[in-house]
Amino acid sequence: MSARNVILLGGPGAGKGTQAGLIVADYGLPHISTGEMLRAAVAKGTAMGREAQRSMESGSLVPDEVVIGVVRDRLAEPDAAAGFLLDGFPRTVPQAEALDAMLSETGRAVTHVVAIEVPAEELVQRIAGRRSCPVCGRIYNVTFDPPRSAGLCDVDGAELVQRADDNEETVRNRIRVYEEQTAPLLGYYEARGVLERAFGGGKRPDEVYAQVKRILADRPA
Ligand code: AMP
Repeated sequence: MSARNVILLGGPGAGKGTQAGLIVADYGLPHISTGEMLRAAVAKGTAMGREAQRSMESGSLVPDEVVIGVVRDRLAEPDAAAGFLLDGFPRTVPQAEALDAMLSETGRAVTHVVAIEVPAEELVQRIAGRRSCPVCGRIYNVTFDPPRSAGLCDVDGAELVQRADDNEETVRNRIRVYEEQTAPLLGYYEARGVLERAFGGGKRPDEVYAQVKRILADRPA
């Protein structure tokens, strides 16, 4: 097996989306972001979107069975057979167990788990300044990684937007949810020998990415 089946772990605002953009451009892996898929379902007003919306607005997790179903369908698509990058999934131990089970059905396994570590106070500051391009998805930070012209995407000039759940109250809940429900995955993957840590605190995206590349170069399964 030569595929890289990669998971990005990290609190809200740790830089998963930014690192995911860099990884998929370099390694040609499909970017599977459950948050993006759920936001698209909310925007379209599908039944799943309506079910997910309330949890997302409060910063809680969408039920495991909903996201597991979404990921199962996505991983069955042909482009995921040669490797994939999961961003924002799994977020609970039952999700991780379901992922292991669905991959093993097709002779696959998780090869790299990259945990991006950032102190909680920095996460709050980063999220307050986070903006993204609604056209190409590129993520900026008004303080740490601003666009060349204020409020406009460097790539396509579109007006940058702020996510509905990027407000301070929701962020604190999302950080608590991360610590309670998602952080146990560090031990889960450490025990399976696939966990690697990248230090994101006070670091620019390119500095974090240099660590990520070293991790992905190691053990190319
Ligand atoms: P994200 O874009 O990854 O920060 O996800 C935004 C929101 O979508 C989260 O705060 C959750 O409400 C929901 N969400 C995304 N991925 C998952 C997941 N794996 N499990 C449960 N809820 C999720």
